[in-house]
Amino acid sequence: MTNTKATHTTEQSEQAMVAGILEGSPEAVGVAVIRLDCGCRKMAAVDIHGDPASKIIMYRDQAESICDQCKADNGAFNRVVKQFISWKEPSPDFATQDMIVRKVLGE
Ligand SMILES: [Zn+2]
Repeated sequence: MTNTKATHTTEQSEQAMVAGILEGSPEAVGVAVIRLDCGCRKMAAVDIHGDPASKIIMYRDQAESICDQCKADNGAFNRVVKQFISWKEPSPDFATQDMIVRKVLGE
């Protein structure tokens, strides 16, 4: 990642959210990040067994609340544009990551 001095980007705020969730979830090995087509995000910490380690958090970058569509459908699955797990360092081994991804994201 290049370190531009650009303004606050969406990815930076996403990473800041991930860091905050990890800090509040000692059991977590990573945070599932789900990006929705409206620009809102859903996140939840996961533990080493692929179980939830925090509540699901929804937020919208630089907004006080999530959008109306998300309020209505709670971030429906068919609006997901990208989902991945942002691992805490040191990240689990590959087999464990794979197990967690399958369990959490169903891939
Ligand atoms: Zn939304």
